[in-house]
Amino acid sequence: MKAALAGADGTLLYEARRPTGRERGPQAVVATILDFAEELREIGRGRFGAPAVAAGVAVPGIVDDARGIAVYAANLGWRDVPLRALLSERLGGVPVALGHDVRTGGLAEGRIGAGRDADRFLFVPLGTGIAGAIGIEGRIEAGAHGSAGEIGHIVVRPGGPECGCGQRGCLEKLASAAAVGRAWAAACGDPEATAADAAKAVESGDERALAVWQDAVDALADGLVTSLTLLDPDTLIIGGGLAEAGDTLFEPLRAAVRARVTFQRLPLIVPAALGDAAGCLGAGLLAWDLLSTEVTA
Ligand SMILES: [Zn+2]
Repeated sequence: MKAALAGADGTLLYEARRPTGRERGPQAVVATILDFAEELREIGRGRFGAPAVAAGVAVPGIVDDARGIAVYAANLGWRDVPLRALLSERLGGVPVALGHDVRTGGLAEGRIGAGRDADRFLFVPLGTGIAGAIGIEGRIEAGAHGSAGEIGHIVVRPGGPECGCGQRGCLEKLASAAAVGRAWAAACGDPEATAADAAKAVESGDERALAVWQDAVDALADGLVTSLTLLDPDTLIIGGGLAEAGDTLFEPLRAAVRARVTFQRLPLIVPAALGDAAGCLGAGLLAWDLLSTEVTA
């Protein structure tokens, strides 16, 4: 997990990382978060003369932002953790915001990253899985149950590979960095091969790599066109590990989206700007938003 102390102008004053401790179970993860936050509070007090006046935290899975509850996360194993209340209690009662990692990253991309000039955008990080954040006029749509934007579970190949969500042929089984790594490992015979290796092989003109890459790009374009048909965004922001391939991804992806749209307006398709700091920066923005809400309320 990543943590930072942020100044009023968004400057990162102090940054730190540590393992979640998830192999010791969900309670250990919660304890790590609380201890980490308390340490940052003490570092703030020691270095800057005062502790942080608010805190924001972003977690994966299903998150009930409004009630401050981390509802479910497959990789962390927790259910219904009242994280906002626990953190506020540990931090001496300061206001705390809880957000979803990808929506929070999308908030940061929208305000201070690649979506700064976009009124309506879709942020899609392509990593271990694929998720999405729907940006609308400076805020991120969470949905009625905290699961809006799950573009990774749009079925793009009916009857395709089984997904952990219970469906088959989900976008993230075909076009996440993990999926591209798996497909390239199978094609080239090296079980350790990754999506970054696939991108390198594409750049060197390897025909098998080009075929693997194009399959992923086609699946991704199918999923993105479904999303832009529904949402009509002005910008698609693509991030995560796969986007690090740069033009190797963006050139064929723009062409594949362009080839599919008919009546839909073509959005700008741009790389994310904040990298893996997006979630952390977004959590800071959520914390600042709490303060500005309190002032104006
Ligand atoms: Zn799925």
